[in-house]
Amino acid sequence: MTKDQLPGEKDTMCEFCSVELDKVANAEALTGRNLGLLKRPEKRINANLPVKMDDGSVEVFPSFRIQYNDARGPMKGGIRFHPMVGEEEVEQLAFLMALKCAVVDIPYGGAKGGVVVDPSELSEAELERLSRKYIETYHEHIGPEKDIPAPDVNTNSKIMAWMMDEYERIEGEKSPGVITGKPPKIGGSEGREYATSLGGAFVLEEFVKHQDLDKEGLKVAIQGFGNVGSHLARFLHERGFDIVAVSDVAGGIHDPEGIDISRLFDLYEENGDLFEMDAEEITNEELLTMDVDVLIPAAIEDQITGENVEDVEADAILEMANGPITPEADDYLAEKGVPAIPDILANAGGVTVSYFEWVQNIANEYWDEEEVNRKLEEHMRDAFREVRKVKESEPGDTTWREAAYIKSVERVLEAEDYRGNVSE
Ligand code: GLU
Repeated sequence: MTKDQLPGEKDTMCEFCSVELDKVANAEALTGRNLGLLKRPEKRINANLPVKMDDGSVEVFPSFRIQYNDARGPMKGGIRFHPMVGEEEVEQLAFLMALKCAVVDIPYGGAKGGVVVDPSELSEAELERLSRKYIETYHEHIGPEKDIPAPDVNTNSKIMAWMMDEYERIEGEKSPGVITGKPPKIGGSEGREYATSLGGAFVLEEFVKHQDLDKEGLKVAIQGFGNVGSHLARFLHERGFDIVAVSDVAGGIHDPEGIDISRLFDLYEENGDLFEMDAEEITNEELLTMDVDVLIPAAIEDQITGENVEDVEADAILEMANGPITPEADDYLAEKGVPAIPDILANAGGVTVSYFEWVQNIANEYWDEEEVNRKLEEHMRDAFREVRKVKESEPGDTTWREAAYIKSVERVLEAEDYRGNVSE
């Protein structure tokens, strides 16, 4: 039994969370703190979801909801639909949600959900039945003051609408605050659709300022042209950055002079791929190892790994996906002095506007787009400055990730403290 294991328990620790926490355990700001409490989730819930398919057969989809920590407020985090999603991955993501909400100082804990499914193989009606089944099954565990799901990989506002509707049907009353990321017509917030990207743009601007660089003409490569990557390309282009490469699952394009992003949007909408642009075609692997000022992985986890990290030539990395750099690769980058702005700070704009959506829902308010974006900007820039302060007050080799972890862990443990959950 290790020191952190509970008596009578085999091993319920989250391995990744434990390793990551140990890296910051000796931080100045965490002196005397016991991080053991954060090494395992509060609750792991799972269920096999039987769903009637269009041909009359029944398929069973494994699913999870991991509720990691709720010391700072209700559990919060997305639900992903992916054929390869597993309980361990969802647990790591739930842990990251708890820290993410703490970094941007919104009053939530952290959770995450997942369903093992390839949604592209389902009809619209099957997808709806699966989404409703998830809520029917997890109904008693969620709620506007308990646990508030949202979109994540392969889930979107349409799915959130079905999920909210199912929850309200079971409850027999309106309850828009149970889910965020809904369509604006039924209680979603203005600006939520692109909030992750806009938040990332603010963080990158702060980082560039901190490095004493001029953003005008800085070369950026973005992996992923989904909801996050595409909006981010637009926001950064508008702010003077040069987007020299973008990619999606099918591969990418490269133009050293900078891609005309508005033209790319038009062509992408027309053709559904990136390759109609007059630009060099590249692979995803090539994009990740390009010599650029900023590399932005905005697709899925585990993209920069022990295998390819030695070839990474970017001067800095902005993590817009969750967990795109493996811990092994992260250690290498830290050693080499390549700054990586971590996911829990860089992509926190999404959950921040989720919080604004929830506030509007429970207060019956409506905030216009300008108000939402102004508040988002304040939160993101403040969060960056808070993390920067920690980085500057800790030893010189403290990374951006460690600084963000230190700040958020400190906030979660403070909340645990007030609740009487931290031993003297
Ligand atoms: N899935 C997003 C994330 O990983 C958003 C979560 C939310 O809005 O609750 O941050």
